[in-house]
Amino acid sequence: MTGSILDTIGRFFLLLCINNIIMSPSLFQDIVFGPIRSRRLGISLGVNILSTDQKICSFNCLYCECGWNPQKSKTEAFVPRQKVKAALEQRLIEAVSTKEKIDVITFAGNGEPTLHPDFAEIIEDTILLREKYLPVPIAVLSNSTMLKNEKVRAALLHIELPILKLDSAIPATIKILNNVSSSFNVEEYINCLKFMKGKAIIQTMFIRGSYNGQTFDNTTDLELAAWLKLIIELNPIQVQIYTLHRLPPATTLERVEMSELIEIRDLLTANNIKVQMAEN
Ligand code: SF4
Repeated sequence: MTGSILDTIGRFFLLLCINNIIMSPSLFQDIVFGPIRSRRLGISLGVNILSTDQKICSFNCLYCECGWNPQKSKTEAFVPRQKVKAALEQRLIEAVSTKEKIDVITFAGNGEPTLHPDFAEIIEDTILLREKYLPVPIAVLSNSTMLKNEKVRAALLHIELPILKLDSAIPATIKILNNVSSSFNVEEYINCLKFMKGKAIIQTMFIRGSYNGQTFDNTTDLELAAWLKLIIELNPIQVQIYTLHRLPPATTLERVEMSELIEIRDLLTANNIKVQMAEN
């Protein structure tokens, strides 16, 4: 199953940003949304289990498509498990009855889905629902920060497409790019990725710029050497590489050139690592 899924991902990952338009950050307003033509996943039915009116994330990436984290989170931040199940079931029934084309069910939305306290149970529900209604793969776009939690890891290992963020192998760069709090343990974050060795897709945003007086560029020789070494160790099913295609919350970022992404793609290919590159 995984080979054909990767082919599907490959086809649609290349179709991003049809007119090369830079879009503004925005939030998803619904629990189940789309389907949308995803640049990475094909025709994707999205599931947002976070709040529908605010972002919730353990990172605050400089390039986040949802914008900056709010200063203060509301208490009712997560969509209850039963509400997610009901919304997804209703949407799948509708999709089946109208013979709608859906390639994948994707957990994404307004932040980091694995922060939901019932994330593992919601994945269980989704597996049962897709078996009942629509036999498509399940994807989760995750920033990898909850891999330290065994239940979250087990849930991610139950789905076909755990897509995990790794923007650099150098702690100082992760701290800037993913804009984490000073107490965030970057070494633990990198080590926890190794729990998913051979089982995940790794996704890396290549970008350069400055923020709060610090400059960064995760395409330097030093960065790429450290990143490639870690990627080889993680032995991912695939690596997805891309650069900015939406207006970032930090306005001092720069996209990298397509020629640079091609060089990185070739570096991975030369090391027998499957790669998808967003051509925007
Ligand atoms: S991990 Fe994803 S949702 Fe969270 S801040 Fe980064 S880009 Fe945004």
